[in-house]
Parts: sequence; structure tokens; C-alpha cells
Amino acid sequence: MKTIIVGGVAGGASCAARLRRLDEHAEILMVERGPYISYANCGLPYHVGGAIKKESQLLVATEGMFRSMFNVACRTGCEVVGIAPEQKQVELKDHVTGAVTTESYDTLVLAPGAAPIRPPLPGIDLPGIFSVRTVPDARHMREWLERDPGAGTPATPRRAVVVGGGFIGLEMVENLVHRGLEVTLIEKLDHVMPPLDPEMATLVERYMLKQGVRLELDDGVSGFQQGEGTTIDVMTSSGKTHPADIVILAIGVRPETELARMAGLELGQLGGIRVDDQMRTSHPDILAVGDAVEVKDFVTGAWALIPLAGPANRQGRIAADVISGRDSRYRGTQGTSICQIFEAAIAQTGVSEKRLVQLGRPDYEKIYLYPSSHASYYPGAKMLAIKVLFQKSDGRLLGAQIFGEDGVTKRIDSFAMAIQMSATIYDLEESELCYAPPFGSAKDPVNFAGMVAADMLRDDMPLCHWGDVDGAFLLDVRTDRELSVDTVPGAVHIPLSDLRSRLDELPKDREILVTCRSGQRSYYATRILLQNGFKVRNVSGGTLSRAHTVAAS
Ligand code: FAD
Repeated sequence: MKTIIVGGVAGGASCAARLRRLDEHAEILMVERGPYISYANCGLPYHVGGAIKKESQLLVATEGMFRSMFNVACRTGCEVVGIAPEQKQVELKDHVTGAVTTESYDTLVLAPGAAPIRPPLPGIDLPGIFSVRTVPDARHMREWLERDPGAGTPATPRRAVVVGGGFIGLEMVENLVHRGLEVTLIEKLDHVMPPLDPEMATLVERYMLKQGVRLELDDGVSGFQQGEGTTIDVMTSSGKTHPADIVILAIGVRPETELARMAGLELGQLGGIRVDDQMRTSHPDILAVGDAVEVKDFVTGAWALIPLAGPANRQGRIAADVISGRDSRYRGTQGTSICQIFEAAIAQTGVSEKRLVQLGRPDYEKIYLYPSSHASYYPGAKMLAIKVLFQKSDGRLLGAQIFGEDGVTKRIDSFAMAIQMSATIYDLEESELCYAPPFGSAKDPVNFAGMVAADMLRDDMPLCHWGDVDGAFLLDVRTDRELSVDTVPGAVHIPLSDLRSRLDELPKDREILVTCRSGQRSYYATRILLQNGFKVRNVSGGTLSRAHTVAAS
């Protein structure tokens, strides 16, 4: 049985290696258009920035390794340019010789990935404008940045414009700053990191501003013009011009579906190759994996395009299982991702609130919490900003977003695993997670999130958000000292320690909304007031959440 795999990176290479492990006798040919197989495109921004010093470090495996270790035939610099599904044949074009040959297959796996979007804007092909997808892309960027400022050539690049505030754009921003460039990030939407909810993205934006990055949000690029020397003038819809010595385009990717289209395979409405949960396309002998396919969103069940390396690798394995006759099935993608931004990280798993609203699913509630990354008495603890979404009807966990400078990965992965197991916020309350002072707290932020959410669902702590506060009776239970630096206009102030003795100052005929700095002391106040016959709700996340939720609304 002969399998041809188109694309030799994440999905393709994992499929080839797994297939060999399952079937020692299979004939496997992996065809890759580029010069390398199995390279770490996720590492490219860090190679440009210099954290990954050598290009060779990006090569996870080589053609030689695939041949000797897995007995997989590899053809690099070779493109599959046509598929004849009925004849079970592909046409291969050798990029060096130009020769076109035909190969037969029993099974074909498409793993061609997704291409960076390059809209037909005026000047988009000017020298100095780069996309980030391949090792040669990163090499060309480095060469451009390191070119010799000799006579007649411009001085070393000083200013960079990054177009697009998704995770590749943000990683490029960080790495260009590390190289000493002044960086402007231009994003068409009103916030960075499009999959995030805007109020969580606000935290990222503020952090980037503190690092000296210039942010131009809510403004799309309209074109590029050659400026003085090799300077590129980046023009935006609002009429601004940003001169740059290097421009990085990171405005998203589009599934590579040309071959699938030519072969008459079914495509989904979002433009990816349509596959079933065994990665089979509409043609029984052709499977497809990775960024090129549409997947089912694990949480919502809706079709989605979620270009991430983990899903591509798992899908590659499943395709190999299926080719070998195993009944493996892909569960869907939940979009677990993380992005480093200087000393901080922003991470997400599951569904966002804006997606739930878009899908018209009102059965959800959210909480904000700001726990320490580890025991606050142990040096280096940092505050985490966490948003958790869960189903109101049964407490099922739907999504989480976390921003912070320490301990983000541990928490997002706990939430991700919980979502994968269809866990509820009640499960989070009971989860036994590792603890020692340098790593966490006896009540980990993940437990804590479960407790806050469960308190809310059990009516032990009726909850509201800053959007509900207008015109309400707002009680602030922070200390006098805290109020001397930060007040909430219109709030009545009674410190928590005085509350029991000053209950007669509060109305029984009106609902009271209670706040403090993070929502914890206002929870204690909520319990006191509830048990004294008041109608009361706690404002989730306290003034810490006000600082970014109100700004983003
Ligand atoms: P790819 O890995 O892109 O491989 C597809 C290959 O197919 C390409 O090499 C292409 O040359 C080849 N090909 C296409 N058409 C043909 C053809 N007709 N013939 C022969 N070969 C062909 N994901 C994360 O989860 N975390 C990260 O931190 C992360 N960082 C990233 C950073 C960057 C700069 C980039 C570009 C991506 C990043 N990703 C990250 C996304 C991740 O790399 C992709 O989701 C993953 O590589 C997709 O795997 P794939 O096999 O579908 O496609």
C-alpha cells in the first residue's frame, strides 16, 4: 500500500512517522515544496529575534532522519501540482529541474497548511515587506535587518511596522524590539489578538505600550509606497503614514486548498477542506489534515478554522491510524494557545464570550479573578488576570483566558484539560493540583475559579459585572487608604472591617452591588449582607476588572 503525503511539516511529517510506526511495510512518500521537511515554523519569530541563534536549530528532523529512521521517501523542492483522484495519481513538479512526473498512490494525505494572506494592496511587493511562514522567510528578514550599511545603502533598519496583531504579529513585535527596533503595530480591529475578548486584549495592549510599542488599532493598512532610500511608507485607511525600514505582514492565513479544489474535493463554508472526524475528505482515498482543513470547534460544535500546531500534529496521527485500519477519531479543536509578550503571556482555551454572543448562545456566565501566580509570601509572585466562561444551566466549563507574567501555562493547561474532559466548574473546585510556595497556592487559581463560579451558581454569591452598575447602589468595602488613590464615582464607602457595625446605613429596599479591589473582600461583604436580609450582588473582579472591562466596552 502506497501513501503519498503532500506537505512535510507539522501534519504531514507526524502522519508519515506514525504511519511507519504502525505499518512497517507501507510505502510512504512525503512531498514538500520547500527546501526542508519537519521544520519548526513556530520558532521563526525567535530566530529573527536571535533567541534561536542558528537556522539549523529550526529543523526538528531532516530528510536524512526520515529516510534512515522511518524509511520514508522524501522529496523536497518538489510540488504536487495536480491530483487525478480517479486514477489515484498526483503530478509532481521538481523545482530544480522543472521536470513534471506522475506518481500513483493508494491513499493520499493533504497537509499543505495555510498561506499568509497578502492582499493586493498597492506596493505590497516592495523590497523590505515580509511574510513569516518558512525558514527562508526568516532568513531573508535577518539578511535584510543585518545588511551592511555600506556606501550607497541605507543605515541599519531602525523602525519596523508589523501589520496584524494576532499571535504571529505579537511574537514578531517582541522579537523586533529585542533587536533594538522601534516597532509600530497596526491592527484593523479595535483590539489585538482577535480570538480574545476585547477586555482581555486591553491588558495585552497596555502591557505592550509599557514596553514602548506603538499601537495603531482600528486602522487598516491601505497601501505601501517607496519612501526615501529603502524606507517604506505604510499608509493606513485613516490617512496616517508610518515610515518603516522593515514591514512584517501577519494578517492571518488562508487554507491552501488549490489542490483540493482542482481534485473536486468538498470545501467548507469557511474555505477549508471539509473532512470527517477521521480526517477523510469527500473522496474516500484522500485524507486531509492541519491548517488546510475545517475542524469542529470542540466546545460549540460549529465549523472553524483554527490553525495551530498541536491540532495539526494530532490530526496527522489520526490520519495515519485511519490509513492503518484503526478506528481513531478527532475530537475537535478547542483553540488552546499561548503567546509570549516580553515577560508576560496571554493564553486562551475554549470559546470566547464574543463567539458565544455571535452564535446566539445566552446560556453562559463569566467571572474575572486576579489571584497570585504562587504563594504571595514567596518571592516573584505575580498577579494573574483570569476570565472564565461556563454554562449557567449545568456549570460546564466553556473557556478561559489568562494574562500574566508568571504561571500562565500551568493554569491554561489545567483549564484546557478540564474542557477536553467536559468538566464543570464544580470539578475545578475539587481538582487536586500541585502546590509548594514557589509554584502555586494551596487553593490554586484554577480551584479558586471553580469556587467563585460555583458560589455564583449555588446562589451563595450572586454576581454582576461593571456593565450592571450604572444607576445601582454601589458599596465599596476597600480601606480608606485604598480609596485615597483610587475611587469609584458614586460608590458608598464602608470598609469591610466596619460593615457589621454600620449595616443600618444600607438600604433594604434596593439591591446593593458590592465591590473591592479584586472581588474577594466584596464576596465576604456579600455573605454578611445576604445573611442580614439584604438583596446584594458582588461585582466580579472588583476594581481590577473595572480597569480593563469598562475601558474595552
Ligand atoms: P505546515 O506546517 O504549514 O506545512 C505545510 C507544508 O506543505 C508547507 O511546508 C508547504 O510548503 C507544503 N506544501 C503546500 N502545498 C504543497 C504542495 N502542493 N506540494 C508540496 N508541498 C506543499 N502554532 C502553534 O500551535 N503555536 C505556535 O507558537 C505557533 N507559532 C507559529 C509561528 C509562525 C511564524 C507560523 C507561521 C505558524 C505558527 N503556528 C503556531 C502555526 C503552526 O505552525 C501551524 O498550525 C502548523 O504548522 C500547521 O501544520 P500543517 O502541517 O497543516 O502546515
